[in-house]
Amino acid sequence: MAAIEPEVHERLNALVAEIPDLTRVLRGTVRKRYVRCSSEGCRCQTSRGHGPVYYLSVSSGGGRTRQFTLDADSYEKARAYAKNYVRLREILEEISALNYKLLHRPRDPSNRS
Ligand SMILES: [Zn+2]
Repeated sequence: MAAIEPEVHERLNALVAEIPDLTRVLRGTVRKRYVRCSSEGCRCQTSRGHGPVYYLSVSSGGGRTRQFTLDADSYEKARAYAKNYVRLREILEEISALNYKLLHRPRDPSNRS
């Protein structure tokens, strides 16, 4: 057996321990923007604009994206959830790569089990 295996299992356990709360996961992009209106002489014309306005975009397959506005509280939550989603995907990818490594070994002619 290759000596690397206990390390791989250790890493797998560490990754599983790092999985975020699965009730707090969101696939989407959150943004904060300042917007300029069309009212003549409005202060937004010379400042950074009205806002911030918080947006959540979610792609729904087939190249379609839906966009919503959020209040400040929801924005903070959505931002954290979206971060969890990204991290969860990274974790799944790494676990998958490690399992591939564990399962797909080059043949060792000295090991006939
Ligand atoms: Zn304005």
